[in-house]
Amino acid sequence: NNIVAIVGRPNVGKSTFFNRLIQRRDAIVDSVSGVTRDRNYGKSEWNGKAFSVIDTGGYIKGSDDVFEGEIRRQVELAIDEADAIIFLVDVEEGVTPMDAEVAKLLRKVTKPILLAVNKVDNGAREKDAVEFYSLGLGEYFTIAGMNGSGTGELLDELVRVLPELPEVEEEENPLPKFTVVGRPNAGKSSFINALIGEDRFVVTDIAGTTRDSIDTTYNRFGFEFKLVDTAGIRRKAKVKEDLEFYSVMRSVRAIEHSDVCILMIDATRGFEGQDQNIFWLAEKNRKGVVILVNKWDLVEKDTMSTRDYERKIREELQPFTDVPILFVSALTKQRLLKALEVAVEVYENRKQRIATSKFNDVMLPIIEAMPPPALKGKYVKIKYCMQLPTPTPQFVFFANLPQYVKDPYKRFIENKLRENYNFSGVPIDIYFRQK
Ligand code: GDP
Repeated sequence: NNIVAIVGRPNVGKSTFFNRLIQRRDAIVDSVSGVTRDRNYGKSEWNGKAFSVIDTGGYIKGSDDVFEGEIRRQVELAIDEADAIIFLVDVEEGVTPMDAEVAKLLRKVTKPILLAVNKVDNGAREKDAVEFYSLGLGEYFTIAGMNGSGTGELLDELVRVLPELPEVEEEENPLPKFTVVGRPNAGKSSFINALIGEDRFVVTDIAGTTRDSIDTTYNRFGFEFKLVDTAGIRRKAKVKEDLEFYSVMRSVRAIEHSDVCILMIDATRGFEGQDQNIFWLAEKNRKGVVILVNKWDLVEKDTMSTRDYERKIREELQPFTDVPILFVSALTKQRLLKALEVAVEVYENRKQRIATSKFNDVMLPIIEAMPPPALKGKYVKIKYCMQLPTPTPQFVFFANLPQYVKDPYKRFIENKLRENYNFSGVPIDIYFRQK
């Protein structure tokens, strides 16, 4: 997917505009998982072209007292990582010095930049908007994020200028694609180095699906897999600050290109907001997930047992708790092989196909013993179910009154499915449809 970043100073209306872009897609995701976690990343589609959107503003806490330097770094990162940038400004405020700063950075960029003047909801403001020519970014779009006017034209242009991504070839026997994600200093590099060694058992170097992601094939400990290496991993020395925005932004592309995300957390810090955001990013993209609690060598075993630690993490994972959690040390190389083994297992879980007749044999008796609760005196009957031939596990249950099946029952079905089949580490989708 192409990645589109929304940049601009605080209070210009980035979040409102962002929410408008991702609205429909998010609603679908929500009805399935029952949660909304991240507000800063979403998927959108216009004229049949799908893209991911990142709202850089969501990461700035507070509004007026934001350092200019911070915005500058965010814009620089968006320039590095995104395929196109929407620069949002506010007609009410006019051109501010900070807008001029951002424009200066953007003028040097060869990627598509779309200047959108927001809050233009009447003719007078349409005239006021001309002052934004002074930013030196050329033509602009006038929009009103609040009611959506003007966004159609902007999006027409956006999907027109998005780069064509090379076709991804369907391989006959694809190898697992792993990506190691986590915030700075979690130990990602140490883990990768320990895993693949200095001599790097490189088999082939294949240019990935984007200009700056390289999938390298490794053959280690009897496993063949690809590591999705990204600019984010290679350039990590450049950015060492522990800012939420960086790790999420750096992770987006890597996650989208992988099958399984190996999420590393620092045992001495716990499973915090930033880790959770990366986790939900993987879940939202329907990727496999393995959580590695790294630096376990530093934790006093008398004060904290793996079981307590694991329980605390799982509480945060609700409702997607069926995720492998391993305690490792990249330093002492403890359980790294196990981690790789589990990642391969998650990959297999995600790929599995359940035969329809067997699936019915297993699920229908469960449903019969515990049917969906009757609603308004009507009974929901589920007659038939199957796995869909989709790249990530999706299941459809055919019912007479699918609209009467509510989230708690969906969760019940998901739990039963997970009890009977191994989907550990794999997000699944369950739908109820009219037969
Ligand atoms: P990255 O930013 O996620 O790639 O993290 P690094 O691999 O650069 O590691 C950050 C710091 O943590 C370095 O000083 C590592 O030596 C240290 N570190 C990494 N893994 C472990 C571990 O398992 N145990 C301990 N004690 N230190 C570790």
